[in-house]
Amino acid sequence: MGFDLSKCIFSECAGECLTHCPYISYDEQQAKEAIRTLIAGKTAPIMSECITCAACNDFCPLGANPWDLIAQRQEETGILGIPEDAKPASDWLIKPEIVIRGKEGGPLISMGGIYEVVPQTEFMTGTMFEDATLIGSGKIACGFTETHLGRASRPLTYLTEFIANLTAEAEKYGVDEIVFTHDACYNVATTIAMREHTEVPFRPVHILEYIRNWLRDHPEQITPLNLKVAIQGGCTTRYAPTGGDHEIWSDWLNEIFAMIGVESVEEKRTYTGDDRLCCGSAIFHKEHERTMDIQHMNIQDAIDAGAERYVFICPACISIMRGTCRKMNLEPVYITQLVKQALGEDLGKAGTAAFGYPVK
Ligand code: SF4
Ligand code: SF4
Repeated sequence: MGFDLSKCIFSECAGECLTHCPYISYDEQQAKEAIRTLIAGKTAPIMSECITCAACNDFCPLGANPWDLIAQRQEETGILGIPEDAKPASDWLIKPEIVIRGKEGGPLISMGGIYEVVPQTEFMTGTMFEDATLIGSGKIACGFTETHLGRASRPLTYLTEFIANLTAEAEKYGVDEIVFTHDACYNVATTIAMREHTEVPFRPVHILEYIRNWLRDHPEQITPLNLKVAIQGGCTTRYAPTGGDHEIWSDWLNEIFAMIGVESVEEKRTYTGDDRLCCGSAIFHKEHERTMDIQHMNIQDAIDAGAERYVFICPACISIMRGTCRKMNLEPVYITQLVKQALGEDLGKAGTAAFGYPVK
């Protein structure tokens, strides 16, 4: 990650970074002009039009990471309108440090800082998590959320502290692995830490890898669901380590689906893979109508592809999209709740998607 000027070669591309952006209508000339302007250190309309979905990093055929350039300029100029004295979430999400103590020797699961905005403890229940210890607070939040708030440097400036705080938690609970419920923390502890040559003394485990492994060990408890589902891949999944030519999380998810009798309709969708649409969390309050338009396009696409459920991996995505999903009669389901259904377990008061983020 990080914008790579040496790879941004205008003669070898067609400005795909911005011509492919689904939220603006730029032609090749406009796209290249916008990037040239940003490289020159000037301001361009794309800085405020961008909804911080990170997709253009995937669209650029030369791997120049143009979103990192846009995000850098957003931060330098404060164009997203974040008050200067607004503290990063990893500073203010310090209360309380959630600990639900599981059994000694059980897995340690980090909900990062996001648990306060989108409470997750109700979803980490049932036999898959009965031995798990759950932790969450600002000090173990990676800071990736800040990239949506005009502070894209936060995951980097906080990286050493983030890893050190998690390492202390691993030592405290006597484990050498930490499971992450949010892609952001997982990807910062893997992709970003590797890029920055930051040693990670524990093994980061993605929630999907954890669930996949658990299901492999308990096949006798599964009753296939026989459902067709669409998937919301969040912005942070674009930072996932790759397995061959794809993001590694999709391997775990496909194996989970195969084990619980769920068929993905993603191959039939327009907005999938690199072209998947953002949940709109970054503009949900300040550009509400625009967010709703994006969500309608996205959910209708899933319905048209034959989806009977909309499956979410990211807690933030489901909190932002669950209302629209329900209005459009496509039930949103958080991944742990979907698997619990295949295990015949009670979903509790949380149901499939009762996250607490205030919805307009
Ligand atoms: S970021 Fe990529 S697609 Fe965009 S102008 Fe540079 S090389 Fe071309
Ligand atoms: S980050 Fe997303 S919204 Fe922003 S310019 Fe890139 S593709 Fe468009």
